[in-house]
Order: sequence, then C-alpha cells, then structure tokens
Amino acid sequence: MIVVPLGVASATPTAVRHLPAVALWREGSVFLFDCGENAQMRMLQAGIKRSKIECVFISHFDVDHFSGLIGLLSTLQLQRRDKKLTLVGPKGLQEYVEWNLDFAGINLVYEVEFVEVEEGFENERVVDGDDYYVDARPLNHSSFCIGYRFQEKDKPGKVDADKAERLGISEDHQYKQLKAGEDVTLDDGTVIKSYEIVGHPRPGDSFAYITDTKYSPNSVKLAQNTNILYHEATFGKELADKADETGHSSTSDAARVATEAQTKLLVIGHFSARYTNAHVLLKEAREGFYPAWLAHELRPIFTDPTHERGILSPKVEIQELNKKGDGKSRGSSNRRKGHSGGKKKYRSRKSRDSGGKSRRSKRSRSSRSYRSDDNKKKKYKKTYGSNTYSPNIEDKKSDKSDSDSHKKITPRSSYDDFDRF
Ligand SMILES: [Zn+2]
Repeated sequence: MIVVPLGVASATPTAVRHLPAVALWREGSVFLFDCGENAQMRMLQAGIKRSKIECVFISHFDVDHFSGLIGLLSTLQLQRRDKKLTLVGPKGLQEYVEWNLDFAGINLVYEVEFVEVEEGFENERVVDGDDYYVDARPLNHSSFCIGYRFQEKDKPGKVDADKAERLGISEDHQYKQLKAGEDVTLDDGTVIKSYEIVGHPRPGDSFAYITDTKYSPNSVKLAQNTNILYHEATFGKELADKADETGHSSTSDAARVATEAQTKLLVIGHFSARYTNAHVLLKEAREGFYPAWLAHELRPIFTDPTHERGILSPKVEIQELNKKGDGKSRGSSNRRKGHSGGKKKYRSRKSRDSGGKSRRSKRSRSSRSYRSDDNKKKKYKKTYGSNTYSPNIEDKKSDKSDSDSHKKITPRSSYDDFDRF
C-alpha cells in the first residue's frame, strides 16, 4: 500500500501547497481521498495514472475538498474510461455531480456508482471489495464530515517454496491449491498438507483518512491499529482555541488520536496557510506521538518499502527524497552546482564590463541578487529561527537535519496575514 499526499493545504492554497487530496495505491488500483482543485494534475506529477482510480471518497462539502471532482470526471470521460467509478460521500453528492454534468452537457461514457451516507449514521461499510473494504464514520466538524478507514483483508500466508520443492511439489496449480488451503495428492499417493507449506495468514494493511474534525472518539475507532493514519493538524498548540472554534484539530489532537488508536505511523496534513514551515507542527505532534511525519506533497509513504519503492515514479523532483545519497541526489546536487557555480556569475560580470546606462542598472540588480545568493544560508536560517519556530522549542539535532530544507521555506507573503485557515 502506497499513500501519496497530493495536496496538504487547508482551505487556502498557497504557492507551494495544494488543496486536500490523498491517493492510495494498492495492487495497481488507486483510491482517492478527497479531490481538491488540482488533484488530477498532482496525480500526474506523482506518477499515478488517473485511469486506475477505482473509488473517490469525499469527506464533506467544504469546497476545498471536492472542487477538483468535476474536472477529474471530465478527464476520465475524455480518456474514454470504460470501467465503473465509485463515488462515496455525504448525501447530495449524486445531485451535485449530475447537475454539473447536465449543465456542461456531458453524457458520461462510463458507469458511476454513488454511495451516499446520510447525517446521523454511526458506522457503515461503504465499499466491500474482494480483498479490501472501506468503513466510514461521522467526524466532529462544523458541517457533516466523514472519516474513512481503508482495510485490506487478511492476506494468505507465505509459501515455503524450498520445502514444497523438497516434498515434490512442482506444478503451478499445485502451489495454487496449497495457497488456497487445499491439500495436494502427489502421483505416488503422498498427501501434502497445505499447512505444512503455507504460513499463517498475514493481517492486511490499513489506512485511515481523518480530516476536518475536532478530536473525536470516532477518529480513534477508524484509526485503531492502522499502519498509516493521515490526520489533519490545521493548527499548532497555541491556536487550540481556534481549532476548536472552527471544527479542526491541533497538533495535540492529532497526536492524541494516534496515541489512543495505537497507529503505527501518524502523518499530519491540512496545514493552515499561516504555517510557512510545517516543521513546527511536526515537532509539536512528536511531543505527543513520536512516529509522526509531515505529509509532503507527492512524497510516497510505504507500508512495505522493500517491495513498493520504485513502483511509482514521480514526474517532478521531490526535494526531500533527494537528500539521501542515492543517484538522484547526486544528479540534483550536480544540477544545483551547475546552476550556481560559475556560469551565472560570469554572465553578470560580463554585462558589467560592457557598460551602458541601462545595463548598469541591470548589473546592479544582478549583483545584488548575487550577494543575497551568497548569504542565502544565513538569511534562510534567520527566517527559519525567528518566524517559524516557536522560540521555546530547542532541538539542535532536528535543526541540523533540516538544514537542507532551509532552501525550501516559503517566503513570507500575504498568505501569512490570513486570519483563517
Ligand atoms: Zn478542509
């Protein structure tokens, strides 16, 4: 199971964060949780095929969570999709979709199955597939909002191929029989018991998607023992009152749900635009629940990294992934070197040599910007320290490991003046 955050903003997108959407890839199929504006483009950039979407789950009708849905349906139409698409969400979803399609004169060439959940429900299995199911429960937001849990059914035990061979199993159909729990009789009459070859069934992986809610016992139920819990943390602890007032979670709420649910990994997202550096939120979440990560757009999270790494190859560079010393990283650092080393510098000096009034003004601009380039590290450090980290939080180790990400901090902008999320 691979979980890819496609948009980690809350209601206001920023220059670097898109509206809410999370893709879950499993055995070649894709499940989309919320579909904010740009979700379909982010899928492309993440290397996820839109044609592979099986179901879209909408949490609620705040615009940021479903504004990309009609565009996605239209793209699937243009791609001449021929398999069914399931849309799950609050009551009204069907009416909304059909009205929009009618308005645009689109006659879908593929089947859409609607699964709607009405306010007042307690717990419902909204999708029941061959080897997975999805449960829904109501959350605690200012409007009717649904949380989801995607659960793989138990997987068959692993086959001990060496032992099978020693016992005389050689044909594919014999392996299949054993895997299905049936015993196999060999030509000489020997019976090979399934349990001798096949191990215990393994529990399936699970994922919970919980966004736009205050702390809720239903979140804990949905997230119980999950491999990955994606939980919103719109606000930091200092704005817990605001979180409560607007029906959202603070970092402490997310950590509390993760702790009570005993999830293996908490991933926080849905960040208020006021947090230009979400690491401050991660620090706070980790104070309550340590195995926590920041949702990073397009950065995949694996439940089985050994087998899943490399299945999805993003079409754009993901900076954080490239910090590790692999091939990609060398490539990108070379590119960086090539970019800043020499060329740019010489070009600006050349223009200085050739003089001219207008050129001179150009030159002074470029030399100014070059100076600031030289001081980049220092400057960013300043931004990092004074504007985004709470002064009372000191963590040298994390500061050091984040030194690379200084370059990625969003500049202060008008977004920061938003008194909303
Ligand atoms: Zn939202």
